[in-house]
Amino acid sequence: MSCFSAPTGIAFFSSIFGTPTENISLINKAEIIVPSYKTRKVVVPERPLAPGSIQIRSIANNPNFSENALKEEYSLIQKIVGFWATQQIVDYLIYEKKSLSDDSISYREIVPYPKNGLQLWQQLKVLWNISFGAPSQSNNLRFSEVTKFTNYEVFSRPYVNKIEDIQEIVKGTDPFCRETVIEKQWVFKGTEVNVLYDAAPIANGDKKFHFLIIPQRHCEKFSDLTESEYVESQQLSQHLADFCKKEGCDTAFIFQKTGERAGQSVNHCHLHLVATATKTQQLFGKLTVFKNMLIGASGLSEDELKNRVNNLRVKLVNLTGKKDD
Ligand SMILES: [Zn+2]
Repeated sequence: MSCFSAPTGIAFFSSIFGTPTENISLINKAEIIVPSYKTRKVVVPERPLAPGSIQIRSIANNPNFSENALKEEYSLIQKIVGFWATQQIVDYLIYEKKSLSDDSISYREIVPYPKNGLQLWQQLKVLWNISFGAPSQSNNLRFSEVTKFTNYEVFSRPYVNKIEDIQEIVKGTDPFCRETVIEKQWVFKGTEVNVLYDAAPIANGDKKFHFLIIPQRHCEKFSDLTESEYVESQQLSQHLADFCKKEGCDTAFIFQKTGERAGQSVNHCHLHLVATATKTQQLFGKLTVFKNMLIGASGLSEDELKNRVNNLRVKLVNLTGKKDD
């Protein structure tokens, strides 16, 4: 099916989608699958965290986290993971690294974990690439990724959210459905989504945080998440990132694992937000976070967790700014 060379490929996609107007020095035109959305574009990255990785980037120079932009992002991610599901890929990581010290454009990367790979090796490679930088892939590989999505018209079909009108809160048997766990770990309660503090934080201590953003309703995979749950969890993660910045953090890692292969340990959809100070950028800190992400960190004692949680409940009372009104 690959009947064009790289330069003709660029011309080919540009002729179909038009030339994007944003900063072209940052991105190669040919990477773009969908430049036609209002706030987001889909990009095949030059340096993917794993083969087949897809990024969703803001179109504007400053990241747009309005409700409409988040809705657009939600439907794009659902289209991507929905397409992967038809290809028997049901495990994936949604990952974002956010600099808190400047307003640089952030993006989300959706990383597939196909069943034919060796699970531990897949996880190790992704974590390595996250911690130390990913190698570049050839333009041919990038074009073949673009072709997959265009051949199946993944983005030209509307996304129908069949679970949009779920109202009833169903409980599962996992820890995040247990009242005792929520009572012990919550630091902020939202409308459909709560924020917990991780009982075994990857990073913890002075200027380090590990939050979990979880829907109140039991749902297992990202594909089960409703649009409004997604919008609220993303808005909360923005507010938490602002909070971490005020507390002296420099970098936030925001990630969500779907499926055992991708490292999902609790069978209830949850978004991690790990924030660290600059020193974590240094090699030793990186290695510690890398080790903790791979094999897990040791749990906090009851007292440590209680202190942390009580302290954060006070500080996060006005997290969304709504309670001041
Ligand atoms: Zn649950």
